[in-house]
Amino acid sequence: MTARIFTRPAGGRVAVVGSLNMDLVVRAPRLPQPGETLAGSAFAQVAGGKGGNQAVAAARLGARVAMIGCVGADANGEQLRAGLVAQDIDCAALETSPHAPTGVALIVVDEASQNTIVIVAGSNGEVTPDTIARHEAVLAQADVVVCQLETPPDAVHAALAAAKRFGKTTILNPAPATGPLPADWLPLVDYLVPNELEASVLTGLPASTPADAVHAALALRDAGARNVLVTLGAQGVCALLGEAPPAHWPAPRVTAIDTTAAGDTFIGALAARLARGVAAPAAVQFALRAAAISVTRAGAQPSIPGLDEVPT
Ligand code: ADP
Repeated sequence: MTARIFTRPAGGRVAVVGSLNMDLVVRAPRLPQPGETLAGSAFAQVAGGKGGNQAVAAARLGARVAMIGCVGADANGEQLRAGLVAQDIDCAALETSPHAPTGVALIVVDEASQNTIVIVAGSNGEVTPDTIARHEAVLAQADVVVCQLETPPDAVHAALAAAKRFGKTTILNPAPATGPLPADWLPLVDYLVPNELEASVLTGLPASTPADAVHAALALRDAGARNVLVTLGAQGVCALLGEAPPAHWPAPRVTAIDTTAAGDTFIGALAARLARGVAAPAAVQFALRAAAISVTRAGAQPSIPGLDEVPT
């Protein structure tokens, strides 16, 4: 049994089960056609993956965070691990696969800021129910457990089930969504947080306007999720919290320059506040403020604000 899993002295405890990728980002005048070779203008290698981004967001926004995941035995893996440790994120449950390479995302961004992304899961695919079982102590010591769908579904299900067995609050960001979730998943989820596209894929219903998002959220609650938050980009969020009537909370008006990781900032912020015992409506309002700041800055993890920047 590990004596000291969470290293940060103050704040609620958040365990993130999820993906870590090295993002390889190139800028090109336009997206290439099949068979075409283009001259790009810039290259950057940055830490990413929804799990990693959400862990960093929760840590910057005041939580003590532990990460459960898997990197490869390579330079990318070492760099990703070091990046998390630099944010005071406990990586004792971040495993290293002896054979699978660290996950990568190959991202091409054109002059209109449109992108294409290819992700190779690599070591993220090595997160299994056994991984979760080996690190159950991390879940048992957390206040809030956060999962996404960039790691294998049986591992995510095992993490949610273990978290509920320990009586923890669970957040599922169903991203990427490929279809409806199996019926036995949603009863394990306290806060289901899809974006509009994911809400639509999960329900088969439109969800791009606040009114439509409410209908999708109601369908997801009927299917078993206790609370549903459909994020709507600049339109804010549709919230279905407990017995309260559905609410649409607009996002703060800002000049957005890069919305990468806006959703991850929202999730990390929500987790950090819930872990501190903040009531859900106030935690959601905090997440809206944090995510709005993130879109005013370039990059994924570099754009995530610190606790001192977000009014509580
Ligand atoms: P994702 O990044 O997963 O696609 P969204 O685009 O819905 O998710 O963004 C998540 C949250 O980030 C939104 O609910 C909102 O709070 C905030 N956000 C995103 N875009 C903007 C924007 N242009 N202005 C203000 N807030 C934004």
